[in-house]
Amino acid sequence: MVNLKDRPVIIIGAGIVGLCCAYYLRKAGKQVLLVDKSLPGTGCSFGNSGAISENSITPIGMPGVMKQAPGMLINPESPLSVPVNYMMKAAPWLYEFVKSATLENVTKTAGIMASYLAGSTEQHTSILKEIGAFDLLQSGGQLHVYRTEESLNGDSLTWRLRSEHGLKCERVNRQQLLDLEPALSDRYHAGIFCPDQSWLADPYEYCKRLLIHLLENGCHFVHSELADIKKYSDGWKVSLNDGLVVYADNVIVCAGVTTRNIMERLGTKLPLISQRGYHVHTWSPDVKINRIIALSDRKAFVCPMGDSIRIGGTVEFQDPDYPPNDTRAMHLANHLAGALDGVNIQHSTRWMGNRPCSPDSIPLIGSPKEHPGLWYATGHGHLGLTGSANTGRLITESILSKRLAPQLAPLSVERFSA
Ligand SMILES: Cc1cc2nc3c(=O)[nH]c(=O)nc-3n(C[C@H](O)[C@H](O)[C@H](O)COP(=O)(O)OP(=O)(O)OC[C@H]3O[C@@H](n4cnc5c(N)ncnc54)[C@H](O)[C@@H]3O)c2cc1C
Repeated sequence: MVNLKDRPVIIIGAGIVGLCCAYYLRKAGKQVLLVDKSLPGTGCSFGNSGAISENSITPIGMPGVMKQAPGMLINPESPLSVPVNYMMKAAPWLYEFVKSATLENVTKTAGIMASYLAGSTEQHTSILKEIGAFDLLQSGGQLHVYRTEESLNGDSLTWRLRSEHGLKCERVNRQQLLDLEPALSDRYHAGIFCPDQSWLADPYEYCKRLLIHLLENGCHFVHSELADIKKYSDGWKVSLNDGLVVYADNVIVCAGVTTRNIMERLGTKLPLISQRGYHVHTWSPDVKINRIIALSDRKAFVCPMGDSIRIGGTVEFQDPDYPPNDTRAMHLANHLAGALDGVNIQHSTRWMGNRPCSPDSIPLIGSPKEHPGLWYATGHGHLGLTGSANTGRLITESILSKRLAPQLAPLSVERFSA
């Protein structure tokens, strides 16, 4: 039974973004009601690669992406897949994606993302300490590996922009790669080592411990699906499928990819699409890696998670509810076997998650002008774990001051109508 004295802030969606919003709002003394149709943290936030990549400020669509795309689309093992029957549906989004992939736009995006993501590691560290989950935080950096020096040179814009915005990174040769990661196969001969990046040993465990902390600190949770949000007097009336009706001054919609449908019913069109990603989680006690290894040719992250190894990656444009394509997970397992000598891919689990993605890789966070008190926070794409703490902090700041925090202004959907 939910018993709320004051009007709560209602949060629709308890993925990592909703949980971080709830965390900062409770810290600020607000009543909070979290709503999720599933168990918190079991959406896209369940199976990501755990990287807290504060300096991954460059977008997915870099200049030249259209030259690479056709080759990737006809190769069944490539990290990119757009099924023919989904092309038409994805076309408006893809149009914006291509428009954003110019040198000028990418440089601008890097600046916006650097300002938005600044301090993410520090914020997560402080949350992890407070909720008793600091043991999940791992340090050792990220190693980005390339097959050849030439392929590394092909990514020079990415590395230039990242280092201009403060990423500490150094170029390493084959011998240095092996010194860092002895299990690395002879497929890779060049790399970039970023010593300061961290990751989580279990991103779902982070969500669970955040939820427990929130419930112990007065946050309410209702396991139900949103039925309707309507303007009511000077606030909002939120109806849930189990019949519960709650009134609020502020409602945050952070329902991952579903945010698009919810906001569309309220008159705001978000250019949001699911880029479905997969992971394969293996138990291979004889193979040890010391940090996240990013396989540049596979666009996949290989992460040490406790006594297991997870490979996560793939960009599959598809309806979120369409059944997972096991072949894509199988390719990831094979990529892992090709990257680490001796790794056992027999004992593994597979998972698919819907990344909520905007065309320019900048999250979609804001409040429609005609709907004060209604907030959307989605589009975190490949960086939702990393960005969630700052999203929660800045949305809370916005609600307290009743105006969008200045750092969030470039993240509003209005950028697409400019
Ligand atoms: C393979 C892979 C690897 C990744 N690796 C990383 C990484 O290393 N680092 C990183 O920073 N990011 C990573 N990401 C991205 C990150 O996981 C996502 O950006 C992030 O989880 C999105 O969080 P969210 O809270 O917006 O969405 P979700 O976690 O999907 O949460 C949305 C919640 O809303 C609920 N919901 C939806 N509709 C309704 C409704 N109508 N009523 C009630 N509830 C509803 C859902 O049940 C769900 O729990 C990765 C993603 C993938 C797929």
